[in-house]
Amino acid sequence: MSPERPEPKSTRKPKNWGNRPWTINFRAKPQPLPDTVDFTVVGGGFTGLAAAAWLKRLSPQKSVTLLEAETFGSGASGHTGGLALAESAAGNLPELGEVLSQYKKILAELGVEGDLRLPGVYELGRTSPLKDSPICWNDSGELRAVSEVAGGTIDPGKIVTGLAAAAERSGVLLFEDANVERCEFLDPIRLHTSTDILRAREVLFATNAYSLELTGWTQRVESCFTIAVATESLPDAKLQEIGLANGKPFYTVDLPYLWGRLLGKQVIFGSGLVHFADWREMYSLNVEKGPASEAFARLEHRIRHLHPKLRDVSFTHRWGGPIAISEGWVPIFERHPQSANVIVLGGYSGHGVAQSVYLGAWAAEALLGKRELPNWKDLRQKRKDEVGSGSIPDGR
Ligand SMILES: Cc1cc2nc3c(=O)[nH]c(=O)nc-3n(C[C@H](O)[C@H](O)[C@H](O)COP(=O)(O)OP(=O)(O)OC[C@H]3O[C@@H](n4cnc5c(N)ncnc54)[C@H](O)[C@@H]3O)c2cc1C
Repeated sequence: MSPERPEPKSTRKPKNWGNRPWTINFRAKPQPLPDTVDFTVVGGGFTGLAAAAWLKRLSPQKSVTLLEAETFGSGASGHTGGLALAESAAGNLPELGEVLSQYKKILAELGVEGDLRLPGVYELGRTSPLKDSPICWNDSGELRAVSEVAGGTIDPGKIVTGLAAAAERSGVLLFEDANVERCEFLDPIRLHTSTDILRAREVLFATNAYSLELTGWTQRVESCFTIAVATESLPDAKLQEIGLANGKPFYTVDLPYLWGRLLGKQVIFGSGLVHFADWREMYSLNVEKGPASEAFARLEHRIRHLHPKLRDVSFTHRWGGPIAISEGWVPIFERHPQSANVIVLGGYSGHGVAQSVYLGAWAAEALLGKRELPNWKDLRQKRKDEVGSGSIPDGR
């Protein structure tokens, strides 16, 4: 954090979502909220930061504000696992395009250095393994690599920091601790924070698992909490024996779900969901108590039994964050039902690292009238019929 910038005064109680193994080194400088702007982005995760930076890059003469309720990356983006994947949780989507190559290009054009590595990702399964699978674990059967897909890893702290710095450099007015409590869908749109009203001609809601009343997603998105742990650094020989020495991240294609990646020589593993009756319960969730703490104990026990070389492993980081599970697991990217001047984007169902930035930039182009939104309505209905109303089974 720049030394001259004070911590924004927060009206929120501090959350206890654990200790993550990366840091976010950016704070917005305090400044007064303008009265009226051309564009406002609500939500300062990967989606909102990328959209705001891209808007200003494409249209430097327009005024752009970004309002974040807490600090940048305080939602899923700062607490993610950081696997960059090409496909959505519902597989490939019509009109989606080349997510990973565009992700790389957008980061490069914005000057964001986020340790993006794309060595490929193993899909793990309990049947029909690849002949040369380096992974052979014991996890409800024999878990091995069954295929390899495009993808890799990022440092989420660096990506949030870099996107925020890029947005600031390009002239976006950035506000942290600026929760949008209410929206009047007038022309211009009126966004009410606890202290001010901001008028904006066009708005992007990039609030993901939160503020479901603003996006109109109360019946369309299930907000859950999902967890991850990082092991101590492991010697090269141990990484070799457990099959992770080539640095390829992995996720399972059958249940029970497990994903993981290397961070230096530490291994990050994740799995498990905590469900809420209301998304606001996320704020009071404490990872040291109750269902989150039980989920960590289950995950660590599971990891220690994957392979004899992991039996005595210790864990240096335990953390979690929100996940927005959408209908049919298809991301929601459309106009708000109450105003054609508002776009809503999110609900990546655990596959948002690369898509958030890629679709965030697309949202900016759509707000500027340079690109149409995709039509994923029919696909969503089809997928919804296949997987049920939205919930990912607890085996995740
Ligand atoms: C533990 C974990 C592991 C994950 N692992 C992976 C992975 O390996 N690969 C992958 O692709 N995806 C993964 N994901 C999902 C991925 O991190 C998310 O899809 C992605 O970060 C979503 O970014 P976002 O910007 O849309 O949402 P968020 O980062 O959640 O940002 C939303 C922001 O909006 C703000 N906000 C909400 N309401 C308001 C309001 N009313 N006013 C102002 N601001 C508001 C919030 O404070 C928050 O900062 C993981 C998620 C978690 C939690």
